[in-house]
Amino acid sequence: MSIKANNPAYKSWVEVPSDSDFPIQNIPFGIISTGDDSPRVATRIGDTVIDLKVIFEFGYLEGLGFNVEDFASATLNKMMRHGKEGTRILRDRISVLFQESNDELKNNKSHLEKLLLDIDDVELLMPISIGDYTDFYSSEQHAFNVGCLFRDPNNALLPNWKHIPVGYHGRASSIIASGIDFHRPKGQKKPPTAEIPVFGESSLLDFELETAFFTYEGKPLGDHITTEEADEYIFGMALLNDWSARDIQGWEYVPLGPFLGKNFASHISCWIVTLDALEPFRVSGPNQDPVVLPYLEYTGDKHIDINLEVLIKPEDGQENSVAKSNYKHMYWNMNQQLAHHTVNGCNMRLGDCYGSGTISGPQEGQFGSMLEISWKGTKPFKMNDGTERKFINDNDTVIMRGFSEKNGVRIGFGEVKAKVLPTK
Ligand code: MN
Repeated sequence: MSIKANNPAYKSWVEVPSDSDFPIQNIPFGIISTGDDSPRVATRIGDTVIDLKVIFEFGYLEGLGFNVEDFASATLNKMMRHGKEGTRILRDRISVLFQESNDELKNNKSHLEKLLLDIDDVELLMPISIGDYTDFYSSEQHAFNVGCLFRDPNNALLPNWKHIPVGYHGRASSIIASGIDFHRPKGQKKPPTAEIPVFGESSLLDFELETAFFTYEGKPLGDHITTEEADEYIFGMALLNDWSARDIQGWEYVPLGPFLGKNFASHISCWIVTLDALEPFRVSGPNQDPVVLPYLEYTGDKHIDINLEVLIKPEDGQENSVAKSNYKHMYWNMNQQLAHHTVNGCNMRLGDCYGSGTISGPQEGQFGSMLEISWKGTKPFKMNDGTERKFINDNDTVIMRGFSEKNGVRIGFGEVKAKVLPTK
């Protein structure tokens, strides 16, 4: 099915800066607040935010099957109940309304005054109420690097890695919106030279460059979603910084995996870019060898070309680009992750969140965590103010940005950023 709103020829009567992540072909969804009004659903073209509650009340979304409650809401969950078909129709309608050639809305000054807002005048809130959070481990280079650092290069990948999209169940309560600063975590750790564990603040605080995807309502318990069906269950994606306290993680993770080293905070970018908007940027994935079991086989291009970057900004300092990677480097795609996750009958629910795992490219400069960039602290990163980073310092802000670009259309996520405050 062709997605009308993706037409690269479309231009909007709303001004779009040339390097914007948000042309008329994007139409992401988010939750805004302006202080005096209650939170509501919005989209964005260029630096202009479009209030979908108001646009609905003016009657511009009539006949699409939506209700005012879908937009007069503090989360996108109600709107997402309309499923892939519903959100596709909604995106198409918004696309038509804001096209250069359409004057249904563009000359109605009194309406525009009420429904258009400047990005600087709104607060972006956590867009989705997340029920369950699963974090995968699906980048081969990342798994290989970590295997080299903690074991040896000859058996860096564990025997299951190329047969299973490895993952763990995380915690949803501490997934928070970009811009919310947080305190360095404390916990139990056992330094390599110590005989017994100690308690204290994490001294190896790290970021993980990831993307996240979010599902519509899945199937009932006991059923599974195939790789072929998976696209229909995926609403959209965001950038995810899956913060990790490496010292806490290193002591606690055997035998049941990540726990307190991971669940103190994970940040997501605030605009959810629909999978529909990302369809034009599909690319083929790596050759999977050994051959996967039939339930993990897939056809067509299921990977996506998304340029990713991580920057560290010290207090009162400049941004330093520390890594450039790409989502296309993933070994396992979202379809395989979802098929694997449900193959035992596990039920996916509306608003569930799935992390990709740290996305590292094959070369130095493309690694998605400080653990890999500084090679476990042995190769400190040189900042442009002369200081060095092995991991993240107090008052550093970590920023991640991402966008796809093809045929003159750039579809991006904006950014996810957060500052590390000293331990509480
Ligand atoms: Mn992670």
